[in-house]
Amino acid sequence: MPRAKALRTLQELPSVKGFRPLWMRANYRQAITLKLEEYEVLRLIDYENLIQEQVAELMGVSRPTVTRIYDSARKKLGTALVEGRTFVIEGGDVQLAMKYYQCEDCQHRIEQHHKEEPPGVCPACGSSRMLSLQDCFVRGCQRCRRCR
Ligand SMILES: [Zn+2]
Ligand SMILES: [Zn+2]
Repeated sequence: MPRAKALRTLQELPSVKGFRPLWMRANYRQAITLKLEEYEVLRLIDYENLIQEQVAELMGVSRPTVTRIYDSARKKLGTALVEGRTFVIEGGDVQLAMKYYQCEDCQHRIEQHHKEEPPGVCPACGSSRMLSLQDCFVRGCQRCRRCR
């Protein structure tokens, strides 16, 4: 029987959903998908300069798991860079510390506690096109510009 995978806690979501190489057609080669936990480990280690023990604690996983995720993330990033591949940040076995929404009209982003109701309209511009970033990043909502 397959064991349920432990979820890794994520402090925030990426600002973009991926990268596309300059001077190459988008579909020239198959895109590489970086999972959200891989993004998070890169962010915490290479950007925030945390050590693996700290990352393990923040994400609620063991240190060897952090090492494994980090190795896989770097391999993907290196491959994307060298082979000129598009890469997309999506999916993974994660749970978010907060709920995130973004306005499709003005890009204003808000975060809420899980028990709060989803926002009806954007507090910045009043638009009703508020998108759940959780759906977008975790499942690929297929409704927004980032997913198409
Ligand atoms: Zn707005
Ligand atoms: Zn989306």
